[in-house]
Amino acid sequence: MSVAYSELLLSTLPRVRDAIAGAASSVGRDPETVRLIAVTKGHPLAALRAALAAGLSDLGENRVEELAAKVAELPAVGPSASTAVRWHLVGHLQSRKARSAVELADMVHSVDSVRLAERMARIAREAGSSARVLAQVNTSGEAAKYGLPAASAEEEVLRIAELSGLRVEGLMTMAPLTNDQTVLASTFARLRELRDRLVSADERVGGELSMGMTNDLAAAVREGSTMVRIGTALFGERG
Ligand SMILES: *Cc1c(COP(=O)(O)O)cnc(C)c1O
Repeated sequence: MSVAYSELLLSTLPRVRDAIAGAASSVGRDPETVRLIAVTKGHPLAALRAALAAGLSDLGENRVEELAAKVAELPAVGPSASTAVRWHLVGHLQSRKARSAVELADMVHSVDSVRLAERMARIAREAGSSARVLAQVNTSGEAAKYGLPAASAEEEVLRIAELSGLRVEGLMTMAPLTNDQTVLASTFARLRELRDRLVSADERVGGELSMGMTNDLAAAVREGSTMVRIGTALFGERG
C-alpha cells in the first residue's frame, strides 16, 4: 500500500509543484513563498508515510478524531518521521473538541467564531502555550460554508487577535466549487484585501493566506496564497 502511494506521488507531486510554480511565476511571485499542505483526510497512514518520504512535512486533516488517530499512530513509523511533521487542522472545529485541536495541531485553519477563539485561547493559556490559528472567512457568502461572515470578519478578527493564548497567523477561506476563474479570483482577492487591512490595523495579525485546493490551486496562488491545501491532486479520490 505504501508503495502504491509512493508511486502515485512520483507523478502527482511534481505536477502539483509545477502548478504552484507556474501560477506563482505568472504573477512574479517566488514559488518558495507558497507552502504545500498535503491533505491526507480519508487516506490511510500509508499515504502519510509516503508523503513524508517524498519530503512533504505539512500534513492536513479536517476532523479532530482522524487527526488524533493519525498523530497517535505515526510515531510507529520511526522517530525521524514523526518529529518532522507539522499537523494542520483544516476542517470545521466544534467547540467541544477545541482542547484536542489545541493539543494536537500545530496550526488550526478553521477558527470561525469569537467564542471558539476564546475557548481555544483559554485552553492554551492554561497549558502555558499559545495556539497558532488562522481565522476562516466565508468570502463566498454561501450559506452552507463555515467561516466568519465577510461583513463582520474584520471586526471579529481584531477581537480574536486581542486574546492572549492565541496567535492569529492569518486568514483562511474556501472558494465556491466552480471553474469560473473570475469568481475564484475575486473570492481570493477579497481575502487578500481583508488580510492587508488587518495587517495594517493590528500588528498582531499575521500575513498568511490559506487558500487553494485541488480545484482552484492556480487561482489561489495568483491571488497571493501562502498555503495551499491539496488532497485529491496528490493522493487521488478519497474512498
Ligand atoms: C478536503 C479539504 C481540502 C483538500 O481538498 P482537495 O480538493 O482534495 O484538494 C482542503 N481544505 C479543506 C478545508 C478540506 O476539507
